[in-house]
Amino acid sequence: MTGRFTAERVRDIEISGIRKLFESAGPGCTNLGLGQPDFDTPQHIKEAAIRAIREGKTMYTPNAGIPELRAAIAEKLQRENHISVRPGQVLVTAGGSEALHLAMEALVDPGDRVIFSDPGFVSYGALATIAGGVPVAVPLDDTLHMDIEKTRAAMEGARILVINSPSNPTGMVETGETIRDLVEYAMDAGVTVLSDEVYEHFIYGKEHVSAARFGDDVVTVNAASKTYAMTGWRLGYLAGPEEYMEPFLKVHQYCQACATSISQYAALAGYTGDQQCVAEMREEYRARRDLFHAGMREIGLDFPLPEGAFYAFVPFGEALLTRVLAHGVVVVPGSSFGRSRPHWGRVCYAVSRDILQQAVARIAEAMGEER
Ligand code: PLP
Repeated sequence: MTGRFTAERVRDIEISGIRKLFESAGPGCTNLGLGQPDFDTPQHIKEAAIRAIREGKTMYTPNAGIPELRAAIAEKLQRENHISVRPGQVLVTAGGSEALHLAMEALVDPGDRVIFSDPGFVSYGALATIAGGVPVAVPLDDTLHMDIEKTRAAMEGARILVINSPSNPTGMVETGETIRDLVEYAMDAGVTVLSDEVYEHFIYGKEHVSAARFGDDVVTVNAASKTYAMTGWRLGYLAGPEEYMEPFLKVHQYCQACATSISQYAALAGYTGDQQCVAEMREEYRARRDLFHAGMREIGLDFPLPEGAFYAFVPFGEALLTRVLAHGVVVVPGSSFGRSRPHWGRVCYAVSRDILQQAVARIAEAMGEER
């Protein structure tokens, strides 16, 4: 019955495989499935939210966000990312997810091609489709980095190129040279770049380089979600060219009105406060990455050391992936992130060291059974 009345462009979109796994994971499972920090939101951020509630800051805010937060984000973009935008070029959204949605809705016409990497974050293809566009997934190279030649070729006549570094699900980080090359090529080809930088602070040894440094037609998407362990607060933003702000605002106004007022005050404390909490989370993620990677090598599963985010993308293979899942280790199959590596698995190592050790032991058991 519902199928008959569902819009065609929504009908064939799959519910995210990650959500499905999250909802089905049993109590005895070792859950490395859902991609979110296991840290609590830092205390000074929570206090700011409590203060906002006490002070009655619980009504609609200006659609684009409270002015002090937009100013703080513009300042942060200048300081950390070397991107010069006025506060008027910052729009506060309900998480990075809404920012991605707004950008697609406002920029994509029916039939426009949206380019992104395969494997890549689940939302890009789905949001392109919801906006009436045509998703085009470009396979990564053998090192799990963007394939410059293939990406350039796909850009001919396209509307949007999505760059996501550090990447979900691979945990890889693109070099400044790659980003510059792709952005400059996109600018020449008349393609807007959508740069999803939600994992920018979780990089281990490499440097984060923002795409907007290299071209004008670049929309930067980011969020407090991962940086400050605030996934449930639903607070993100996008920053981009002046002329996009009104179209973005139109979509935002009619679907969201404004981001949650309390979360905006909390995020303000995050962006303007001491950043030590972020450094501490990064160092713990780094230690967990090393622990997991070394553990996997010891049991005979070697793969390139992830460079950022809190994911490892592991080449399990079809039989082992099935056994790993059967042994109660929840990882997200590569098939959730595209067609190119269906039997790999995304491991989220934003869990305690004990859980990671337990996961490695269970994976070793699964490997033992396979032999
Ligand atoms: N972009 C990437 C690459 C992500 O991994 C996620 C969440 O997992 C998002 C965007 C959305 O983040 P948010 O929770 O802020 O909507």
